[in-house]
Amino acid sequence: MSETDTISGTCLCGAVTVRAEVEKPNLRACHCDMCQKHTSGMFVSIATVPGSVVAKGPAKSFQSSEWAERGFCETCGSTLWYGTIEDGIRHPSAGLFKNAADGEMKIEFFADQCPHGYALAGDHRKMTAKETIAMFTGNEE
Ligand SMILES: [Zn+2]
Repeated sequence: MSETDTISGTCLCGAVTVRAEVEKPNLRACHCDMCQKHTSGMFVSIATVPGSVVAKGPAKSFQSSEWAERGFCETCGSTLWYGTIEDGIRHPSAGLFKNAADGEMKIEFFADQCPHGYALAGDHRKMTAKETIAMFTGNEE
């Protein structure tokens, strides 16, 4: 059996609170075009127990593609989550939680689309766009 911890955080204005269960608060960064637009940089999310994310307050959702939606605070615009529509799973934004819930960077998606002016240090896994898409569509080579 694995034990989980409850983490809790807020958006910039404090109107939205987000709670989730985590086993290990691993961090994932995404550099895809949509995440760059939504966050002004990379989107960093925390791995949570699927279905455990609960948002309270004026949280809104924007459907950004056929398969995904993005949560934001209606008052201050903070990025709240990336969610997949089919299964309703939400991946909360790491910045909502103090010190990113003490999480450790584990994986970078669309690493080959990271803007050339910066890069994340560390030995975590870096997946190209092709590898990322293959993983999420179940067509891993
Ligand atoms: Zn807010």
